[in-house]
Amino acid sequence: MTHLEIFTLFGTEQQCKAHWIELREAQGIVCKKCGCEKHYWLPKKEQFQCAKCMFRTTLRSGTIMDSSHLPYRDWYITMYLMTSSKKGISALELQRQLSRKRYEPVWCMLHKIRDLMGFREDQYKQDHPAHAGLGPQ
Ligand SMILES: [Zn+2]
Repeated sequence: MTHLEIFTLFGTEQQCKAHWIELREAQGIVCKKCGCEKHYWLPKKEQFQCAKCMFRTTLRSGTIMDSSHLPYRDWYITMYLMTSSKKGISALELQRQLSRKRYEPVWCMLHKIRDLMGFREDQYKQDHPAHAGLGPQ
């Protein structure tokens, strides 16, 4: 995708949120309480409601954004910046780009995305004996 296409598709918080809803629906939501997979979207509450037991799941619950209060757009911009730059981006630079007052939430988001995208391959290899040649022969 071109920069222009990205900005056209993910330019606003509303667009990013709508895309996140689509993604979650495509992946399927499983009710934490009863395991039912059928859900209805409640636009006003911005939650999914289980068709069986009415238990509600927030849009961020159980995802990479769980417990984050940063806007959806920040997450999308960050994912874009991380994948479009070869060198990657530092948390400090990201904080500046997103105009966020607090460093910690930005740092946290960056690391979650890194983990998810497998940017920490080197560490992964060290953590797993099999990869370091220490596993069973
Ligand atoms: Zn349920």
